[in-house]
Amino acid sequence: MTNNERLQLLVSELDEFVVVLCDTSGNFTSWHPGVLAQFGYTAGEFIGKNLELLFPEEVRNSGAVEREIATAAELGRASDTCWLVKKSGERMMVDGVTIALREPDGGLAGFGKVLLDITPLTTALESGRALAEALGQSTVLIRRWSGAIQHWTAGCERLYGWTAAEASGKIADALLETVFPIPFAEIERQLLASGMWQGEIQQVRKDRTPVFVSAQWVLVAGEKAREPLVIATHADITPRLQMQRDLESANERLKRMTHELERSNQELEEFAHIASHDLRAPLTTARWLTDLLALHNGSQLDQEGNVCVKRIGTSLERMSNLVDAILTHAQVGQSAIGTIEETDTGAVLEMALDNLHSEIVTSNASIEYGSLPPLAIQPQALARLFQNLLANAIKYSNPGVAPEIKITARRENGDWVIALEDNGIGIEPEWTERIFLPLQRRSELGAAGAGLGLATCKKIVTRAGGRIWVESKIGLGSTFYFSLPATPKIVTGVK
Ligand code: ADP
Repeated sequence: MTNNERLQLLVSELDEFVVVLCDTSGNFTSWHPGVLAQFGYTAGEFIGKNLELLFPEEVRNSGAVEREIATAAELGRASDTCWLVKKSGERMMVDGVTIALREPDGGLAGFGKVLLDITPLTTALESGRALAEALGQSTVLIRRWSGAIQHWTAGCERLYGWTAAEASGKIADALLETVFPIPFAEIERQLLASGMWQGEIQQVRKDRTPVFVSAQWVLVAGEKAREPLVIATHADITPRLQMQRDLESANERLKRMTHELERSNQELEEFAHIASHDLRAPLTTARWLTDLLALHNGSQLDQEGNVCVKRIGTSLERMSNLVDAILTHAQVGQSAIGTIEETDTGAVLEMALDNLHSEIVTSNASIEYGSLPPLAIQPQALARLFQNLLANAIKYSNPGVAPEIKITARRENGDWVIALEDNGIGIEPEWTERIFLPLQRRSELGAAGAGLGLATCKKIVTRAGGRIWVESKIGLGSTFYFSLPATPKIVTGVK
């Protein structure tokens, strides 16, 4: 193999290079095989074409190709870094040189063009530039191990107010008056051990306003003699922290208010308890004296006087019922209602029915119930609950119709739901919520009552961790439901 042949072989193997030969006008005369593959042309499409084929239109139109050939002809070579275009339209960044080829007599024989595809390098450089630009917008500062600021991005300028010129060379933590969450020595230890540290720090801006940042520091080991650098990325968390603090203080206020409310509720309950308790004795005396008056002096009074004494007696009885109801209502808050032990619901219901014996007999009420599940509530509280609901079902029955009451239980998710269905007068929709509030009663119904029965029921059920509600149809009856957690848990009343 001649040297010339070896050289040709070498050129044909240089895939990264594009080597073409042109005549004096720049028309292709030969090329190495890789050219066709790189630019996507067939040999037929390539032959006889001008160098211009490889240049984008705007370069062709600008006369740059002719200029390059002229320069090479004049100076022997012309080098350039420019975009070329493939047949597909895709661009390729090349670093190239055009060399004038001379005849032995010095006349111009043509040109040789050697190109190197540097597109990947350009792309990498561009992404590097884009990355640097993006980083510049972020709050990133590079600090020497000593703390001296070496690099300060536009993001830092925006966050802290200091320009790069002002910050450069300053000790970061002195300039920004940094307060670290842990001793700085510990931060240094973590940086050296794991190469990074992150935490929340407090700093001060140029305008003296505080700023809270979430910091992420990465240690970049320095070359042997140089000190290591720390790349610190800071994110402003001041608004988040402010919101968190506002929330915490609102929570604190709410806690105080709830506590205050509980305390005043408790005082109110204690007051109601004491007042109703103390009112009982004078009321009993007044009723006793009224009875005596009617018995011993009734004959001396005229008809009007006797009517008055009777009315006093009725009023005193109503007042006495009210005082009893207030006392019961207040007592519900005095002790724990939920229990760890479960109560035998059937037995408690029978106790309540016993207490209502005379009402049941007088009204000829029928009460139907099957087996009921044990419930997580104190027996006395459950008895009061049943007694109030049953008394109402009898009291608010349709005139001339014997009350029919049905008690059932069903399991719903984690609760037992007990239903007391009656065939009474029903409740208007606008009353179904109000009736559970103290002293809310439809007085036009004429039935005696203090308006505290259902409020007491609600208090009992709520304190035992359940709920009470009613569904009703006017004239057809109502169903009162109460739910209690099926798994017993202790719910305490206000102590
Ligand atoms: P009171 O019975 O002393 O008025 P409650 O708190 O027990 O007080 O009841 C409040 C009101 O709810 C009653 O005045 C009555 O209008 C209505 N109510 C309660 N239970 C029933 C019922 N089973 N059927 C119809 N209305 C009822």
